[in-house]
Amino acid sequence: MQFWKLERDSSDNIVLSLDLGPEAKQNLLKARVLEELDEFLANSRPNSLIITSAKPESFCAGADIEEIRGSLNNPVLVKQIREKAVGILLKIRHAPYPVVAAISGTCLGGGLELALACHARIAAKHPRTLFGLPETSIGIIPGFGGTQTLPRVIGLTRALEIIVGQKKLNAETAEKCGLVDTVVEPDRLLATARTFADCLRLGLTERYRTAKKNRIESIPYFGRKLILSGAIKRVLKETKGVYPAPLRAIEAIGASCKNLETGLSVEGKLFAECAASPEARNLMSIFAVRNEARSKNWVNADPQKPPGCLGVVGAGKNGMGMGKGIAYAAISAGIPTLLHDISPDCIHDAVALIESALKAGVAKKRITPAEAAARRALLTVSWGNRYERFRTTDFIVEAITENLEWKRALLSELEKHISPSAIIATNTSSLLPSEVAASLQHKDRFGAMHFFNPAEKMELVEIAGTPDTHPNTLARTLALTKALGKTPVVLDKECAGLVVNRILLRGIAKAFLKMLTVGIDPWKVDDWLERYGMMMGPFKTTDLVGFDTADHVIKSMGRYYPDSYPKLVLDMELMQNKAVLGKKTGKGFYFWDGERVGEPNYRIFQEINFKVRADSRNLKTNDPWFVEAVAQIVLNEMRNEGSWLIAEGVLKSKDMIDLAIILGAGICPNRRGIFGSDFDLART
Ligand code: NAD
Repeated sequence: MQFWKLERDSSDNIVLSLDLGPEAKQNLLKARVLEELDEFLANSRPNSLIITSAKPESFCAGADIEEIRGSLNNPVLVKQIREKAVGILLKIRHAPYPVVAAISGTCLGGGLELALACHARIAAKHPRTLFGLPETSIGIIPGFGGTQTLPRVIGLTRALEIIVGQKKLNAETAEKCGLVDTVVEPDRLLATARTFADCLRLGLTERYRTAKKNRIESIPYFGRKLILSGAIKRVLKETKGVYPAPLRAIEAIGASCKNLETGLSVEGKLFAECAASPEARNLMSIFAVRNEARSKNWVNADPQKPPGCLGVVGAGKNGMGMGKGIAYAAISAGIPTLLHDISPDCIHDAVALIESALKAGVAKKRITPAEAAARRALLTVSWGNRYERFRTTDFIVEAITENLEWKRALLSELEKHISPSAIIATNTSSLLPSEVAASLQHKDRFGAMHFFNPAEKMELVEIAGTPDTHPNTLARTLALTKALGKTPVVLDKECAGLVVNRILLRGIAKAFLKMLTVGIDPWKVDDWLERYGMMMGPFKTTDLVGFDTADHVIKSMGRYYPDSYPKLVLDMELMQNKAVLGKKTGKGFYFWDGERVGEPNYRIFQEINFKVRADSRNLKTNDPWFVEAVAQIVLNEMRNEGSWLIAEGVLKSKDMIDLAIILGAGICPNRRGIFGSDFDLART
């Protein structure tokens, strides 16, 4: 066997270890891996079987998406692949000898379905041990029996959380809910699996099982109906029904109360439906682009190491803010970080927020108290206008207020104190990076590194050099981005606003123009666009960003791209009423309750003088066809801006523009962004 290593003891107990070789970071259930397993099962009759991995960080990360993608156009092949895999897993399930999964590292998708087919599951206490069935994120449902076997092991409610909510469990949580039978130190994994196999044969597993006893929930018919309809309602609220997979997954999970054979056939039918959908094709395609962005060496320079010590200037004022979000991401990635702000109050708030985020991580069992303490110890802070402490930092992210003069003044002061090899990167949203760099002596060690809000969560980082940036500077920026676990998109050429903001803001400007000129209802435009696949309509986005920030950025971008920002929009005063600035004040175009968006705020036209008729909601122009036409114009504007980015040589790859706009602004992942294969306005 090429991918499975077989060890047999004198009593014919077999350990099968999966290993896709040193080149592969993760083990995957490729077709050939399954075939080899099938051949083994057909030709062996061991005393017991332990299925494990030779990679401590990856039991199995799931099916090979490239292989699935290759078969999507052929429904017969999709059916064959699935039935073959299900058949193999059923052979394990019905094996007349004990089969135990010994799991260390990622156990996701098909990997978890393989583990669920085994008679017991033992997990290693390893930071990388993680269980999940994330198939709905790529437009399909678990298809190797997971929708039937998971609810049988951990119950309906938790199975919904994992399959539909894409929740991932660490070893400890998996043990608590009965997904694994016991959790042990890594060096005890195989020995415990062997003991379990012996006990399974003797019917004595309860003595060793530390997890809650497995049980199939005995929820009455109406209770099940209620849980399932609640799940459907939540999905429809969150996704406006744009994605078929989560809804099909709920339907498949619903069938898990039937016998296994019937349930599996329901799963098969629904799996085939999802696999044939344009959403699956688009989501898998963008998944492949994302993998490319994360693995390729974007720059013409040798790969570099991430910084030994990171500096961040400007902690940020609202919520987690940009600077403190970046600092939090850095300490979470194990990078010592110095966070500085001119204002002691901002630093005080930043430390309090970072500490409470670490505490929340401990409370949610994402990290241990010791890990939280170790991360906190990596953070140092300073405030005021002295920068001597930056001598020890070898990479500094500038995240101060979006003001060109302030940024220039800071950079020239900072440059006096930092080491001659240190890099400075600006996080500017709307200024031209080389204009920001004008005050620097050493422009070769400067570039743009644009994070998205909230920086600790959003995975995209746009990177751009100026004409003076040295390739090594970009390589070091790329190394930091990867060390933070983020996905980089490196521009071919700088521009103000970089890629995502240029595209997004042009769409927002057009939406505002239509509201001001024809009185189109903002909420209807948002609703239409969200039902089309945008995570958030342009007016809701403005609420989230804050009217003051939006006003500032639109005016700043208008300076660089006057043709894209009509005078009416540039003259618009979004900050007339300080009590109506969007989410941060609890109301804007919508009412907000903390992070949660509420009802439309129909009084916005009186609260802020938008110079449109107050009765605009009653205008004929709000006919559905007109709303749709306006929403399509907004999308077309974005697509035009994307075409300009290519024509100007800012980013020549359409795929990478789509990836950036999906990860940075949530624009139509279901349609693969703005240039996606399914972006066909005539169809809608
Ligand atoms: P903010 O106004 O909330 O925070 C700016 C911080 O910089 C404040 O804490 C302020 O005290 C500090 N500051 C100002 N001048 C300083 C100086 N000379 N030295 C040290 N600290 C100084 O701004 P923000 O929203 O956190 O944005 C910061 C930067 O990140 C801006 O360039 C912005 O364009 C960019 N950005 C913002 C977002 C966003 O959504 N907020 C997203 C991406 C990028």
